[in-house]
Amino acid sequence: MRAMLLRSPRTPLVLTALPEPRPGRGELLVKVGACGVCRTDLHVIDGELAHSRLPVVPGHEIVGVVAEIGAGVDGFGIGDRVGIPWLGYTCGSCAYCVSGRENLCDAARFTGFTIDGGYADYTVADSRYCFRLPSGPSDAELAPWLCAGLIGYRALRMAGDGKRLGIYGFGAAAHIVAQIARYQGREIFAFTRPGDSAGQQFARALGATWAGGSDEPAPTELDAALLFAPVGALVPKALRDVGKGGTVVCAGIHMSDIPRFPYEILWGERQVRSVANLTRQDGIEFIDLAQQASVRTSVVPFPLAAANDALSALRDGRITGAAVLTTA
Ligand SMILES: [Zn+2]
Ligand SMILES: [Zn+2]
Repeated sequence: MRAMLLRSPRTPLVLTALPEPRPGRGELLVKVGACGVCRTDLHVIDGELAHSRLPVVPGHEIVGVVAEIGAGVDGFGIGDRVGIPWLGYTCGSCAYCVSGRENLCDAARFTGFTIDGGYADYTVADSRYCFRLPSGPSDAELAPWLCAGLIGYRALRMAGDGKRLGIYGFGAAAHIVAQIARYQGREIFAFTRPGDSAGQQFARALGATWAGGSDEPAPTELDAALLFAPVGALVPKALRDVGKGGTVVCAGIHMSDIPRFPYEILWGERQVRSVANLTRQDGIEFIDLAQQASVRTSVVPFPLAAANDALSALRDGRITGAAVLTTA
C-alpha cells in the first residue's frame, strides 16, 4: 500500500510502499477513504512534540471502511463506515482513566504520532477507539470532524455557557465550532491573521457577528475565548478581550511562548486553561451534536501523494476550511 512516511523531523514526507498492515487482537483494518490534515501534523513533522515514533505515518482524522476484523472485536462488521481519531489507546486503569479523564492517561497512544495513522491506503486501529459515522456526507467532508470537530467541541465545552464567544484563528476547528456555537444560540467574534479578509469573510458567512484581525480589540466584551492559533501572544490579547469570570481556552497541542503580562488582566476571576486530546465520550457527544446542528465542512481535497503540498498550504494559511487527503 501507499503511505506518506515521516522518517525524521523537519523533512518532507516520503511516498513509500509499505506492506498492508494486519489487524491484531481487538483491532480493525480500515481502508482509508480520506484523512484530514491537522495543525498537529505540522507540530509532529516539525519535531515540536516529544516522544514521536519514527518513522511514522501521520494523520489522525481518518474516515474509511472496515476491511478486516481482528479476533475479539465486538460491534463492527466488514464494510462499516468508521472514524479514527487522535486518541488511539488508553490504559483504562490509571487515576485519569478511572475518573472519566482518559484524555490525560499517562500511557495513552496517539494516532499518527505514536501509532501509524491515516496518510496511507490502509491503517489498523484499536476498535474500542473507533467511532461510527453518519452515512450522508462524503469521507472528505467527515474527516475534519475527527479532530478539528472533536477537540473544537471539547474546547467549546471548557469555555462555559457564555454567549459572546471569541475565536482566535479561523481554520478547520473554528469553522466547525462556529456552526455548533451558532446552533447553541451564541454570538461569534472571529479573529484572523491581520489582513486576512478572505478568512474574515468566511467567518461572517458562517454566522460570525463580527470578524477582524487579531491586532484589533474585540468590539464588545466577550464571555470566553477559544484560541486555535498556536500563538502565545494571543493569550494576553484574549484575556484583555474577555470580561470578569471569562475563560481563555488554548485548544492546540503546541503554542509559542506566552509573553509576560500584568496580573490585572487575569484578575476578576478570569482563567486561562488548555484542552488536551479527547475522550471517547467527547466523540459520541460531538458526532451526535454535529448531526443535530447540520454541520457542513468546507474542505480542500489533495491526493494522498500530495500530502506535502497540503501541509505547506496549511502552514502558509492558504486553506479556507480544512485540508483533506483522499486516497481515490
Ligand atoms: Zn490511563
Ligand atoms: Zn488534530
